[in-house]
Amino acid sequence: MGDGERAVEYSESLEKAGEYAQSVMSFMETRGIPATPNNFAVWFVYHSGRHPDLTRHLDALLEENEEFTEARNAEIFQRFFTFIHEGTAATDAAERIGSELANILAYLDSAGAGAAEYGRFLEAITGKVAGSGSVSDFKGLIADALSATRSMEGHTRNLQEKLDGSSREISQLKQDLEDMRLEAMTDALTAIPNRKLFDIELRRSANEAVKNEEELCLLMVDIDHFKKFNDTYGHQVGDQVLKLLGSTLTACIKGQDTAARYGGEEFAIILPRTSLKDALTVAENIRRAVGTKKVVNRATGEDLGTITVSIGAGRFEYGEPVSQLISRADEAMYMAKRSGRDRVVSQDQVRVSVLNTANPESS
Ligand code: GH3
Ligand code: MG
Ligand code: MG
Repeated sequence: MGDGERAVEYSESLEKAGEYAQSVMSFMETRGIPATPNNFAVWFVYHSGRHPDLTRHLDALLEENEEFTEARNAEIFQRFFTFIHEGTAATDAAERIGSELANILAYLDSAGAGAAEYGRFLEAITGKVAGSGSVSDFKGLIADALSATRSMEGHTRNLQEKLDGSSREISQLKQDLEDMRLEAMTDALTAIPNRKLFDIELRRSANEAVKNEEELCLLMVDIDHFKKFNDTYGHQVGDQVLKLLGSTLTACIKGQDTAARYGGEEFAIILPRTSLKDALTVAENIRRAVGTKKVVNRATGEDLGTITVSIGAGRFEYGEPVSQLISRADEAMYMAKRSGRDRVVSQDQVRVSVLNTANPESS
């Protein structure tokens, strides 16, 4: 279906919206997509044509007649809709933390009140002890003091239990929030950092590089002729290859580095405190490591040979927006494609080639 047909206003009348929802549902049915709320959100927005990235992604899958498996549906939702999911879950957790804190404050308040009352009581008893005459007066006062002390002890124990309960609940919430944050920043298919984490990490690394006057490099990695691979062996096998590449990249880097899935079949690697020369060495190691991995069709056991990647390397310049660094690494990667694929190209080779094109005589 073309973009024109899909541009529907979903703020129109309720009746129209109902008809529209029906048509989305029947479309999902013909494609065998279960009508879960998440899937419905995905396909509703797709039919609205309001999300060009989502449209492009789903059009590619539809064109290839891909099966919408549970894993794929989850991946699509995670990739395009997690901001909604994350937002509400985080708000919910924040509310829970807020109400636990309010509870603790109330306990502490009542503890303070209880202790003050006990103190006043003891003071009063001390005053009476001083002025008491008979032994029986004295016994009575001691009995009162003991019972006040016991009640204070009980009160404190009760309070301690409540505080322990609250602190357990808060630790659990902190853990839940941390899990949620990690999940929202992990690519569902390859289990490596996703684009969101990449963006955050690259900006953070650029700031660090400026602050500490260190070098920072970026590699862009793209699988060669991956479309053909998908067309030949199917998307499921293609997905296996993406997983394999994700784990290969992770195995080729060190602790400070970040390998992320940048989009589709493109990956990016952030190399803090690394010179361009060293980045090219890492890139070459990656290129070679990828070339040694045999791709096996898990379903049939068939040996599908190997894949290759093209890699572009860029070096961060202090003060530039990180998008410029990405562009330079990307240009280098495209030059690697143009000059035959399965190779590493540095941003400096792109510059030389631009200079030569501008000034053919000088080369
Ligand atoms: P090139 O060597 O020039 O990079 O060619 P290419 O075929 O790899 O590049 P192109 O950009 O034309 O195609 C990228 C393909 O990547 C399109 C799509 O089939 C595939 N792809 C993108 N995302 C996914 C995914 O999540 N799973 C699978 N299996 N394939 C994907
Ligand atoms: Mg490619
Ligand atoms: Mg690509």
